[in-house]
Amino acid sequence: MILLVAEHHDGRLAPAMAELTSFGAALADCTGDMLLGVVLGCSPQGPAEELARLGIDVIAADHEALALYNPETYIAALTALAAEIKPASILIAHTATGWDYAPRLAVALEGSCITAVSGIAPGPVPAFTRRVLGGKMVLESEPVPGKCAVVTMQPGSMRPRTTVTGYKPAARAEIDLGTALNQRFGSHTLGYREAVRGELDLGRAEVIVAAGRGVDPERMDLIRELAACFHHCAVGASRPVVDAGRLPLEHQVGQTGQTVAPRLYLACGVSGAVQHVAGMIGSELIVAVNLDRQAAIFDVAHLGIVADLHEFIPLLIARLRAGMETT
Ligand SMILES: Cc1cc2nc3c(=O)[nH]c(=O)nc-3n(C[C@H](O)[C@H](O)[C@H](O)COP(=O)(O)OP(=O)(O)OC[C@H]3O[C@@H](n4cnc5c(N)ncnc54)[C@H](O)[C@@H]3O)c2cc1C
Repeated sequence: MILLVAEHHDGRLAPAMAELTSFGAALADCTGDMLLGVVLGCSPQGPAEELARLGIDVIAADHEALALYNPETYIAALTALAAEIKPASILIAHTATGWDYAPRLAVALEGSCITAVSGIAPGPVPAFTRRVLGGKMVLESEPVPGKCAVVTMQPGSMRPRTTVTGYKPAARAEIDLGTALNQRFGSHTLGYREAVRGELDLGRAEVIVAAGRGVDPERMDLIRELAACFHHCAVGASRPVVDAGRLPLEHQVGQTGQTVAPRLYLACGVSGAVQHVAGMIGSELIVAVNLDRQAAIFDVAHLGIVADLHEFIPLLIARLRAGMETT
């Protein structure tokens, strides 16, 4: 059995769940195990329904102690559940909450813990892969045999699974974890507050022109000029561009920046590190311009241009402007 732990906020599944479901299905194909989703929450029927629509069997644990994420309640619930169903692996998204409780859960289960994985290397015992050194190398890790493997998947590494249309409804059941949860925990989550957004809302842009470290700091004007060629366009950035102070933090796309899904994402001089890709993999059309044909961004781009962006972008701007004049 492979247990997939759903993450949800305000009654909706977290975006990474569609990817985690793809990941779980790929692992289930390798091992022959059954994939089961679990949704912890207080009246979690909405997210449970959403997860089932991705085509997997789902169980929901409904308890007021699970109303908001808290590592202690999650670990109590999941250890009780694991004692009952004895999963070979527990899959969690490598998000701020996922990486918070995954190692503690592994300790509680005396299992192994492999974090930020981006794929599966098939074999007699499937190993998990993770990209290191900015995506230039891949590390393979095997879980300890005979122990439950707690695995976190790096968002941005798998194609998200889409809702199954005309799907055969997956089984949905409720599980009572009251015995594990009716106790006093050392901490209590009071609530969450969303960060105040500035004027720039990358999330609403239809087109994002993103600047990476490959953009000459003196030539950021090229990125702005290119962005000005599109309606509803915003300028995005990779973390080094923000760290260097070339653009404010609200422009950052990725794991520690914003998650975006515009109609067009134009990545200029961005290498495609998994932490960046995590924030833009859901874009409808990804176009990348990079000097290095081996750059990881080309693994996710629908259209790749191997060129010096400082030569290519002026040509593109000229063509777009010529197009605007004739329309
Ligand atoms: C915990 C953690 C969280 C992180 N969160 C984020 C995040 O939210 N967002 C994020 O972006 N990163 C994040 N990072 C950093 C991430 O790992 C990468 O370091 C970063 O994304 C790399 O940015 P880059 O692609 O702009 O730079 P680089 O990796 O340096 O790539 C620059 C690219 O530009 C290309 N290039 C150079 N010159 C040219 C040229 N003239 N024309 C065309 N191409 C050219 C190069 O070939 C190269 O591929 C995080 C890292 C960690 C550890």
